[in-house]
Amino acid sequence: MSVLSDLAAALRAGSIEIIDLTAPLSSETPILELPPEFGQTARFELEEISRYDDRGPGWYWNNFRTGEHTGTHFDAPNHWVTNTGGADIASVPVDGFLRPAAMLDFSAEVADNPDFLVEVEHIKAWEAEHGSLPDGGWLLFRTGWESRTSQRDMINADDTGPHSPGLSADCARWVAEESPAIGIGVETVGTDAGTAHSFDPAFPCHALLLGSNKYGLTQLRNLSRVPPTGAMVVATPLPIVSGSGSPARVLALVER
Ligand code: MN
Repeated sequence: MSVLSDLAAALRAGSIEIIDLTAPLSSETPILELPPEFGQTARFELEEISRYDDRGPGWYWNNFRTGEHTGTHFDAPNHWVTNTGGADIASVPVDGFLRPAAMLDFSAEVADNPDFLVEVEHIKAWEAEHGSLPDGGWLLFRTGWESRTSQRDMINADDTGPHSPGLSADCARWVAEESPAIGIGVETVGTDAGTAHSFDPAFPCHALLLGSNKYGLTQLRNLSRVPPTGAMVVATPLPIVSGSGSPARVLALVER
């Protein structure tokens, strides 16, 4: 038996389950909000071309418009000013689209503190319990934020700005420069914490991970169904030429 025929048999038998980590894409999908002096990303919009009608009697289809960074999406290295010559989303090597994953669960901490930040010590504690991080794998951070499906709940802003969990600047630097990870995956609208505009550097996951030719995955769902170790992640952005990111279908293969 070959590895791939074993995989096909395991999928058919249900001993490997495919879990969809992707949020649905619609005009309701939450998006990042920047201060008004900056350009803003677009919501996902469908424009109907025809629907079995006089515009096209036998077929239904749409045009769509969206920001590259809308919904569950993949951040390319060239997204950030720390890597202006980095890979665009069409140039990210495809071997990055199928990688093992570690799932780190901070949903209890975030329930008490929406500004919770993952520190290096948290990741070290996870390693002490579960073993080394997978080489070239994703770090998936479960926070419970996936239940916040409206724009308001997802951004969770007050007078002082947005409040959502993320990584400290020290932790982002460690993931970027010392960990074996290919990137991080989060449930929030972007890879950085809501308060990360005030970190040093600002938006450290973007600045340091993308600056190190690593990647980001956002607005993931169903991480509660992903075990701490052993999952394989399939993350497939569109090859938008010169693009800085793309909505992606993200799946986890999990052994039962
Ligand atoms: Mn993004």
